[in-house]
Amino acid sequence: MLTNMLNLPKLKILYMEESEDDYRFLVETTTPSPSYCIKCGTVSNLYKHGKKKQLFYDLPMHAKRVGIYVNRQRYKCRECSETFFENLPDMDVNRSVTNRLISWIQRSSLEKTFTSIAEEIGVDEKTVRNIFNDYVAELEAQTDFRISKWLGSDEVHLLKNYRCVITDVENKSVIDILPKRNKDMVISYLSKLQDIDKIELVAMDMWNPYKSAVNTVIPHAKIVPCC
Ligand SMILES: [Zn+2]
Repeated sequence: MLTNMLNLPKLKILYMEESEDDYRFLVETTTPSPSYCIKCGTVSNLYKHGKKKQLFYDLPMHAKRVGIYVNRQRYKCRECSETFFENLPDMDVNRSVTNRLISWIQRSSLEKTFTSIAEEIGVDEKTVRNIFNDYVAELEAQTDFRISKWLGSDEVHLLKNYRCVITDVENKSVIDILPKRNKDMVISYLSKLQDIDKIELVAMDMWNPYKSAVNTVIPHAKIVPCC
C-alpha cells in the first residue's frame, strides 16, 4: 500500500510519518546500479561509497505538504577516484523538488502569489520565484518559432498587477506574459517578434491600449474582439 502512495514507481517507501500539516517519507530507489562512471566513462569499476539523505518536496497530498527524503546512493570510481550520486529521474536535483512539482508550480504561479505557493508546499519563496523565472525564460526562448497567424492578447491579474498574456490562438498556448499591460510595453514586445508580417488575426478584448498597440505595430492584422 505504502509503495503506491506517492505514485512514483522508481521509489520504494521505507517509512512514512504524518503530522497535522505534513507528510514525510523516507525512500530509496529501485533502479539498478549504474553500469559506468559518469565522470570518466569507465565501465563496471564502481563501488558503493555511502549514502546521503536528501530532501525533495513534492505535490501536496490530502491538503498536507509532502517532503521526500531520498537515501541517495553515492558511488566511487576505482579508475578516476571521482564520486557521484545515483541518478534520480523523478527529481529536479538543482531545485530539490520533484519534476511534477515543477509543473504544478508553473501552473499555480499564474493564479497565486509565490509566497502562498511556497507556504502550501513547504519550499521557500525564492525557489518558487526561480522556478517561475525559468519557465518564463523557456517560453521566451520558444517565441521565435512559435509565432502563428493568429495571435491573442488577454490579461491576468497576477501578483497584484494586471499582466498582458500573449497567446497563440491556433495552438492554444501561451507565448509570453508581459509584466505590465500598458501600450508601450505591448508595442515594445510586438516590435521584437519575428515574422510579424505573418500575423493575420489578433484576438483581444477591446481595451484601448492593446488595440492601439496592435494598430501601430501590425497595421495589416485584423482585430477580432473576444472575451
Ligand atoms: Zn571514473
